[in-house]
Amino acid sequence: MTDQLPRYQHYIAGETRAPAEGEYFASDNPATGRAWYEAARGTAADVERAVTAAKRAFEDPSWRRLSQTRRGALLRRAGELIGEHAEELARVETNDNGKLLREMTAQLAGLPEYFHYYAGLADKIHGETIPASSVDVLNYTLREPVGVVGAITPWNSPLLLTTAKLAPALAAGNTAVIKPSEYTSASMLTLAPLFDQAGFPPGVVNVVTGLGADAGAPLVDHPDVAKLSFTGSTATGAWIAERAGRRLVRAGLELGGKSPQLVFADADIASAANGVIAGIFAAAGQTCIAGSRVLAHRSVYDELVARVIERAKTIRIGDPTDPGTELGPLATPAQLAKVQDYVEAGQADGGALAYGGGQPDTGLGGWFHEPTVFTGLDNHARMCREEIFGPVVAIIPFDDDEEALRIANDTNYGLAAGIWTKDLGRAHRAAAALDAGTVWVNMYRAMSPMSPRSGFKTSGLGVEHGTEVIREYTRLKSVWINTSDEPAGDPFVLRS
Ligand code: NAD
Repeated sequence: MTDQLPRYQHYIAGETRAPAEGEYFASDNPATGRAWYEAARGTAADVERAVTAAKRAFEDPSWRRLSQTRRGALLRRAGELIGEHAEELARVETNDNGKLLREMTAQLAGLPEYFHYYAGLADKIHGETIPASSVDVLNYTLREPVGVVGAITPWNSPLLLTTAKLAPALAAGNTAVIKPSEYTSASMLTLAPLFDQAGFPPGVVNVVTGLGADAGAPLVDHPDVAKLSFTGSTATGAWIAERAGRRLVRAGLELGGKSPQLVFADADIASAANGVIAGIFAAAGQTCIAGSRVLAHRSVYDELVARVIERAKTIRIGDPTDPGTELGPLATPAQLAKVQDYVEAGQADGGALAYGGGQPDTGLGGWFHEPTVFTGLDNHARMCREEIFGPVVAIIPFDDDEEALRIANDTNYGLAAGIWTKDLGRAHRAAAALDAGTVWVNMYRAMSPMSPRSGFKTSGLGVEHGTEVIREYTRLKSVWINTSDEPAGDPFVLRS
């Protein structure tokens, strides 16, 4: 049957390209469990073509010698085109990863903002003049593109997470080969031609689809890829870092999380409950910043648990394209099995299943799981230490601020954290003490192209978003010029 499905090809040097080995793989719609297209199953030969195209484009004067202002104009145009196609792209992503259409629509409607932000930054990337110890020396720096960027991305927010890499990489003058997740290849393949339409020279943006081991690994190992940028699981990220280390190439890593939300006694409990729901049940918990550990002061613990469960009971589970739906399916059967495994582990560790834990019958056939609340666990339980990536939360009591912060930081991860309190001093103290790259106070799950994102501990290496990310996509060269007409001095002393 699968030979009747629409087929997506690689996108290389401005053209669709059939896979070198002629193989395809099917991609399923998580809401129905049925395949809806096939994508090219890339191998090292396809990666070779794409990297060659990207290297050629990087060296070609049409890109290399383009003014930074013009680079910015192309990015602006790409953002506009993406805005025009946002609805179509959102529908493709929902069909691919099962997330709510209204969430994906909002995400993609926001993408132009990212491109416009980096469009504005493109002509503000520059070196500096450095004071030298002699007036006869001019020392300045050049901030240069690194070359071909290899970007590898996950399925949960495919284009948003790719944009976080691509927009600054292009603003800095690099070219790119993107390997999207094998579960969500279609949106990147729909997006890629828009870069050529916007006026980017062919080969500046290339896409190779396929499985991690077949298509991702050769990209990681390719000697002409000068910088790797990865978003995905900590296990894959660690493997990539190791491979990158072997050939001493830079690797930016945005990885997993086990983020705590701290609800203090003085918090507005209704808002905190809402924030807990947003943190763990929005996107069915399939976000890196999922607030999967909630720490609540003992005096408000029962009320918070009751409120979270009360709201969880009313969450509308079903078709992610229906505007009334609040919880869609998990992205893959493997993801569903993983969530079920953690629910069992939570019970085996002595936890009380306070709500959910099962698979609702939606009649759609997809991979749905109920919003699930655990109580009675401490932070050592497996469920509280490992990333679940599903709608499962453990709510743990604490007695004082010190204990709350100790539990919050007692994790290998350090991606995000939430604080709920009306006490300004407590909010600042906790924000400073938390080991997390992003801290939200009386809010959760917000992001902007302007605000840096980074993972501490095993949640990542490097920065995305904001101006800081430009350093990740450029190399710094120091140029020394002797401006004097005097003869060269003593060859046996180091100059300064
Ligand atoms: P994953 O690590 O399984 O896959 C991510 C990408 O890596 C996919 O494209 C996959 O094909 C590729 N890949 C797998 N093995 C590879 C290999 N050996 N070489 C090269 N590429 C390989 O992750 P996932 O399940 O797709 O995504 C979920 C994970 O992503 C979660 O852990 C989540 O926390 C994390 N994530 C992090 C952020 C962040 O900003 N920190 C954002 C979103 C998701």
